[in-house]
Amino acid sequence: MHIWLFWQRQPESANDALWRQGILAAHTGMLVFFGTLALIAWYLVPRPELIRLRQISVSVAVLGTLGFAALISAIDQLVTSNITPLLVGCTLAALAFLHRPLSALWLFSLTLGLFLFGIQQTQSSPAQLLSNQVNGLSSCTIGLLLAWLQWRNFVQINTQKQRLQAQAQLLEEQNHKLSYLAEHDPLSGLLNRRAFNGIVEHELLRFQRTQQPLCLLQLDLDHFKTVNDRFGHPLGDVVIKRVATLLSSQVRSLDSLARLGGEEFMLLLVDCDREHGLQIAEHLRQLVETHLKVVDGNAVALSVSIGMSYLEAGQSGTYDSLYLASDRALYSAKQDGRNRVKVAAPN
Ligand code: GH3
Ligand code: MG
Ligand code: MG
Repeated sequence: MHIWLFWQRQPESANDALWRQGILAAHTGMLVFFGTLALIAWYLVPRPELIRLRQISVSVAVLGTLGFAALISAIDQLVTSNITPLLVGCTLAALAFLHRPLSALWLFSLTLGLFLFGIQQTQSSPAQLLSNQVNGLSSCTIGLLLAWLQWRNFVQINTQKQRLQAQAQLLEEQNHKLSYLAEHDPLSGLLNRRAFNGIVEHELLRFQRTQQPLCLLQLDLDHFKTVNDRFGHPLGDVVIKRVATLLSSQVRSLDSLARLGGEEFMLLLVDCDREHGLQIAEHLRQLVETHLKVVDGNAVALSVSIGMSYLEAGQSGTYDSLYLASDRALYSAKQDGRNRVKVAAPN
């Protein structure tokens, strides 16, 4: 538009012709310069990985904006004392781009230098020259101040954003920790009663649909009170942890192992019938017997009694009936001399 407008205009004097020529040349230069930049931007927008090229393009755009603003204002001095292009350029460069404070200082000082040199060549009136030297200084200072304000806002927003992100991350970690604490026993790291109950209820619902057998094992360490009495409570804790580690190393990821409290554990075996359940229970009993003879140099000679109940296709049962059956089986194992597995059907 600018080029077309100036092209139409017939110069009235030699000075006028020189001004028209200068403006036409400067605007044509701008058209080529910013047109090329637009093409580069069009290429770069979908390619965020070309960081260096993007940075260079932005710097070139800033330098171009300020350079052309100073140049056109200087050319304008041939016919007018107006320096609007410089003010517009400074404002645009300060608001449309983000500059580090020191870069902004360099940038606007350079623009001022260029402008002062330019008007020295084109402004013939000493009074207007002085007036515009001062106006140019003001324009570049306004640009600099705007750039600094932009930078300060950017830094503040960024700091707040980072703080918020850090808080959100902390909150997420704490939520994670809380939900872990809500579902796990702190001593053994196994599931607690609440989480285990939820899992059993869920698996019982599944059983109703799939009729795949499942077994519930109740494990109670034998004469644990004696372990505490003979070796002290802290070693009793260590024994509980060892048992937990030993048991969890043996169960499949589908199965659920929990510490109900004290020295009592529960194990739910899914997709596992009575025979297989009994094999697993016997295997666990033997493991405790062989691996926990001595703990940290103390002859604890630990053993475990296991009561098992089960649910197979065609049977019906609730958590309560399964639990009562396994409890009954456990009681029977204790009665029969401990360190053994007993099974009971739910009724
Ligand atoms: P049995 O089961 O063979 O009949 O004998 P027991 O000695 O194991 O009997 P009981 O179940 O009554 O005792 C369990 C003991 O476990 C009582 C308590 O001192 C101990 N105990 C419970 N919780 C903990 C714990 O967190 N740490 C330790 N060290 N001991 C615990
Ligand atoms: Mg007990
Ligand atoms: Mg016991």
